[in-house]
Amino acid sequence: MATTEIKVKGAREHNLRDVNVTLPRGQLICFSGVSGSGKSSLAFDTLYAEGQRRYVESLSHYARQFMGQMPKPDVDLVSGLSPSISISQKSTGNNPRSTVGTITEIYDFLRVLFARVGTGHCPECGTVISAQARDAIASRILGLPQDATLWLMAPVVRGQKGEFRDLFEDLRKQGFLRARVDGETVRLSDPPPLDRQHRHHVEVVVDRIDPDSRDRGRINEAVESALRMGEATLLVSLSEENDDQAGKPKQDILFSSQYACGGCGRSFKPPSPQLFSFNSPQGMCEGCDGLGRLYTFVPELLVPDEKLSIRKGAIKLLGKWGDLGRYRRHIYRGVADAIDQAMELRPGTMLEGQWQDLPDQAKQIWLWGTDDSVEFTWRAGQKSRKYSGAFDGFIPELLSRYRNTRNKMQLRQFEKYMDTMDCPDCHGRRLNPQASAVTIKTGTSQFLAEEDAKADFSLPELCELSIERLNSFFETIRLGDTEAVIAAEALKEIRQRIGFLLGVGLDYLTLSRTAPTLSGGESQRIRLAGQIGSGLVGVLYILDEPSIGLHPRDNDRLIETLLRLP
Ligand SMILES: [Zn+2]
Ligand SMILES: [Zn+2]
Repeated sequence: MATTEIKVKGAREHNLRDVNVTLPRGQLICFSGVSGSGKSSLAFDTLYAEGQRRYVESLSHYARQFMGQMPKPDVDLVSGLSPSISISQKSTGNNPRSTVGTITEIYDFLRVLFARVGTGHCPECGTVISAQARDAIASRILGLPQDATLWLMAPVVRGQKGEFRDLFEDLRKQGFLRARVDGETVRLSDPPPLDRQHRHHVEVVVDRIDPDSRDRGRINEAVESALRMGEATLLVSLSEENDDQAGKPKQDILFSSQYACGGCGRSFKPPSPQLFSFNSPQGMCEGCDGLGRLYTFVPELLVPDEKLSIRKGAIKLLGKWGDLGRYRRHIYRGVADAIDQAMELRPGTMLEGQWQDLPDQAKQIWLWGTDDSVEFTWRAGQKSRKYSGAFDGFIPELLSRYRNTRNKMQLRQFEKYMDTMDCPDCHGRRLNPQASAVTIKTGTSQFLAEEDAKADFSLPELCELSIERLNSFFETIRLGDTEAVIAAEALKEIRQRIGFLLGVGLDYLTLSRTAPTLSGGESQRIRLAGQIGSGLVGVLYILDEPSIGLHPRDNDRLIETLLRLP
């Protein structure tokens, strides 16, 4: 026989005085009264506590030992109770790794979506990254305009310095006739002299196929050997029939048999959901361990007077130039010269120019360093020696001094110039460059009609949209037929959860909002939204002022949502 009522007899928890009530089951019930009248004592400390206690008692002895003893509330009888879940205004915690996206699990489904159907881009040069089967590559080449001559080429030098005489000789001995060097097609028997100080691009021509001799067998063979020579990348260039020059590099069609960039040859791990997690070593930005923010030295504090030059002491904590040791002076001078050269500044600009006049990129390198190695000369007596190495940057240098000092005075001195700021590597996006460069395309007209129309969004960019905008982003997603099938399940979950958040009036939040910045009311409504999708039925939900902090116009929507609790 189904029970239709919850009966409470003799409730005496806190200030309750032998309260007897009978409540209908499966209904939305509201307790109201002045503060201190015992609403919470009845709802949370009696009904919820007893429901929870009985549930725990029903578990095995083994499970119970992990859950602790639940005290029995001071009440004579409670009947008709279901397992209970409380959704209080308790904050969602202080962990900045927990966000609206992770609490609602929308972020988890987005990770799956991006891993399965996102379009990867090379973070270095922006080229679309994809991996194709050899067969598919050959088919696409076979289908290129029938009246064109095809040049199948393998990139062998990608922007490296050198003369490459041995390479040309070696290729010739392997039986290749031509190569394209810096965009010009040349015969390998007569290669051009190259300036070894400059960066060059060399593609060896693996096969040149005229319209008459185009057939699958020949293309298969050429694809095979081009992919081997080009380390999984091959280029196809089209020219007029009988032309002895291949087309220009800009018009090349790139193919890759691995998840590699056809543009600069960098290869990447194929994307997985972990790649998109800022809590996983595979996905997190290395600069901030996936937090997006850092406690570090702040450029504005380090350089209070931008009219000074570095030599004149623009950078606090670097101190007076004359007081630096010989070795450090030498390193900084070498780096400054290298920056002058790399950025084509007048010699001496970096050290003598006013800080405010230096190009942003130059300041960036000075403060945060560079991955490229910097060459500097070191004069020891008569001899001058060349050294090269990566320059870590002034701020990373300071950070390592900050971490290694025990001196309290010095720590306080450092902290005057420090604050929490957006991570300079990921700019608060929390993910590593590869993950941040994967995008998904919306087909929603609202996005395309806007002033600065933009259809492709990365995961961090989606997390910056309000739930309302996110909802319209996901109204229509541009996917191929196969991708649409692959993405269907994740998309359904995402759309549903976005709908729940809209239902509880949280349309203004972003997925990137961290738990510590949410108000009690917001946390409660997020958990409420989570419950609607939980799939549990017949549960007694106990909420504490769910409308707190909610705009009055959203009250109706909230009540509708409450009525939908199963
Ligand atoms: Zn690239
Ligand atoms: Zn970062």
